Amino acid sequence: MITEGTLLVHCSANQALRCAPIAERPGAGLVISPFQRDEAGLLATAAYLLRQRHFEAPLLLDAARYAGPARLPASAPFNPRWLRRQRELGVPVLTDSGYVDSGDEPGLAGILHRAAVLPDTIAVLPLHPIWLQDRLHRTVLTGHIRAAGGPVALVLEASRDPFALPGVVEGLLAVLGCGVPTLLLRCDVSALGALCHGAAAAAVGTVAGLRHLTPRPAPQSGPVARGFRPAAPSAVFAPALSYRRINAISRARRRHPDPGLFGCACTVCDGRDVDWMAELDDREREVPAFEHSIRVLQDLRDELLRSADTAPASWTAHCTDAVYRSRELGWDPAPMLRHWQRHQSPGATVTRLTA
Ligand SMILES: [Zn+2]
Repeated sequence: MITEGTLLVHCSANQALRCAPIAERPGAGLVISPFQRDEAGLLATAAYLLRQRHFEAPLLLDAARYAGPARLPASAPFNPRWLRRQRELGVPVLTDSGYVDSGDEPGLAGILHRAAVLPDTIAVLPLHPIWLQDRLHRTVLTGHIRAAGGPVALVLEASRDPFALPGVVEGLLAVLGCGVPTLLLRCDVSALGALCHGAAAAAVGTVAGLRHLTPRPAPQSGPVARGFRPAAPSAVFAPALSYRRINAISRARRRHPDPGLFGCACTVCDGRDVDWMAELDDREREVPAFEHSIRVLQDLRDELLRSADTAPASWTAHCTDAVYRSRELGWDPAPMLRHWQRHQSPGATVTRLTA
């Protein structure tokens, strides 16, 4: 059962056992995507978590067939076995949707209408960002969501933060205004903005690749793509309300030594300055970086959602403060802060999830 305002941890199956304890607290939960496209491995991990480890927080399984070089298009049929296995495990049922490209209105409508005839099923909508950015696309999107009337889970494509793109915040608020329970998967700090404006649940990815849907590389970029190295881990820096490279946080601390700004009381940092992780190499940093980030975002969620009435205004105030703090530290503020700041009025009313 997902309660309103749930902040989920979005991890891959090989991280699930480590993430389970982080996701077991009130208002939290877990979304798991396959590791290296291994759906059977994902289902086995979920079965272990539920039946042997007795994981009790909300658990969602994301087939992620919309991602990667071999992603499926929105017109691809759902796999009945995938839907059935989720029901057998007793988890909310997410469709294994393909990717909805910029011009694919039939694909979009197909996912929504095929999901609407299934009992208690959440339609996963992996969207090209134009569906939220462009006014005409947005009208088509919200029209189909309203007509289908069932819960949706959005996944937004962008090479970096989709909420940095103009119009994406407006588009999300329009979807939240459709009156259907809305989840947001593969997100970063903007998950909190979505929750403050009435999303039923939003998921923060453990690694950069799970904090948005990475566009498929262009065919001519093959050799470049093969040489691609994962980005050095970033961590949430709460005063700037954004993910920052740990080395950048270290440099900022040396320039502006202020224990009140850099000290972190989360269970991972335990009062140390947040850039203590700079002493570790990139591989060792990854786990504490995401544990710290999720803990900090969970505490922020608790603070922001203390009252649903004041949450949108409280989120705006946090964004305004983060812009100021970022500048003070010599950084460009995260672009999404400006987009969220423009939306001060209370947003959509929270719509109850039935799944
Ligand atoms: Zn910390």
